[in-house]
Amino acid sequence: MSLRAPRAGRGPTFAAAAAGLAVVAVLAAADRIDAAEAILAAAFVAFVTVIALMTAQRAVERHEAFLSVTAERANEPPPYPTLINALPDPVLVISATEPDDLTSRRYIFANSAARDLLRIELGEGLLVSAIRDPHVLHAVDEALFHGQDAEAVYETPGVQERILRAYARPLGLALDGRRLAILVFRDETEFHRVERTRVDFLANASHELRTPLASLSGFIETLRGHAKEDPGARERFLGIMQTQAERMRRLIDDLLSLSRIELNEHIAPSERVDLAAAVMDVVDAVAPLAHERGVTLDTKLPLRGALVIGDRDQLVQVVQNLVDNALKYSADGGVVRIAVEAGLSAEGAAAPRQPEGARLALLTPDLPQGPYAALTVRDEGPGIAREKLPRLTERFYRVEGQKSGERSGTGLGLAIVKHIANRHRGGLAVESGEGRGTTFTAYFPQAPAAAKAAPPAAVAKLS
Ligand code: ADP
Repeated sequence: MSLRAPRAGRGPTFAAAAAGLAVVAVLAAADRIDAAEAILAAAFVAFVTVIALMTAQRAVERHEAFLSVTAERANEPPPYPTLINALPDPVLVISATEPDDLTSRRYIFANSAARDLLRIELGEGLLVSAIRDPHVLHAVDEALFHGQDAEAVYETPGVQERILRAYARPLGLALDGRRLAILVFRDETEFHRVERTRVDFLANASHELRTPLASLSGFIETLRGHAKEDPGARERFLGIMQTQAERMRRLIDDLLSLSRIELNEHIAPSERVDLAAAVMDVVDAVAPLAHERGVTLDTKLPLRGALVIGDRDQLVQVVQNLVDNALKYSADGGVVRIAVEAGLSAEGAAAPRQPEGARLALLTPDLPQGPYAALTVRDEGPGIAREKLPRLTERFYRVEGQKSGERSGTGLGLAIVKHIANRHRGGLAVESGEGRGTTFTAYFPQAPAAAKAAPPAAVAKLS
């Protein structure tokens, strides 16, 4: 810190003193004043000089004291209201006098998060006009009048429901004898949402597993009972039991698969995988079933393939789930069109492909970073009503009317597709309408041009 400013006052003081003495000397030399007057004048100049020097010294000391206090304050935290105001959690300081008088409970400080939460304009006011929840008010009373820590759950009114935990803590007495307490809110909305999803998921998964299990137990009983001696019934029941056991196996496979994908969802894959080759593999695998049902699989793949940064098994799973669904919901003799396009921009990858029906983006990449390779699977099946589209990727969701019968599924396929696309930083869209068929498009960031050329994938047309 510079101390030069006040010290600079000494220079002019000495200069003025020297000038005064010089004038006295000149006047004495010129006999304009006598010796006694000269001594008196010199003494006066010396006196004035000493006074001026003392004043300058005081100014220096005061300035130094000011600088040292300022330096100390620079390391001090800002005042408490400023600090509390900056906290992201809502905080209120509450004062009260009479336990029986509700109007004596006032908040005497509310930080800006508390003002936003409780929609109050001022940092001061009647507590019951800011918070009406009886549980929170009770917790505050515990802190104010019984010196107890207390907490309560607070749900905000309105459409955008938030669930918060309110913590009340006693702060003792103010100087004027009022009781004080602090009330801090912590937002637990996300925690409750995750918890609800977990509980729903467990309930759904157990329900889905219990249904085939109950059917299996029922048939075992029948086979031991009246069907024991009936070879025809036995054969039929064993067939049903096999289907149910198969359904349970598929469910468990899908559940495990979903949990594995979710576990690694934050780790982007790094292999270079040809999406067109993955399509060829799946088409080869489902061709016999398609053939059996007279469904034509029409594939259109880029000749040079479509290299994406991906996990090969997971990409095959995406193709498999979308093609399985298209086949499952196609009428016998229908056509399923499977296409891969490469070198698309984010807009191109997400662009509509089916002229009729509604379109919905089920997943959009956070940071669109093209070019993308897109897989499109289109069928001529019953289609899906517009209002059902947003729920398609929910676990266990199945469009009503398609739940039972030969089109048995786990209701997890599209959830798996969405999580895989998300892990790949890709996107997913559906276009459909009742009676208009369905088109799913999944797209993935392409791998940068490789030193090694991609293996060419042939254009195939299978039936
Ligand atoms: P599932 O194993 O039941 O097929 P998915 O998660 O793959 O489960 O699909 C969820 C639901 O979406 C299906 O049950 C079905 O109602 C509907 N759906 C999916 N794909 C199609 C499609 N291509 N055509 C008509 N409905 C479909």
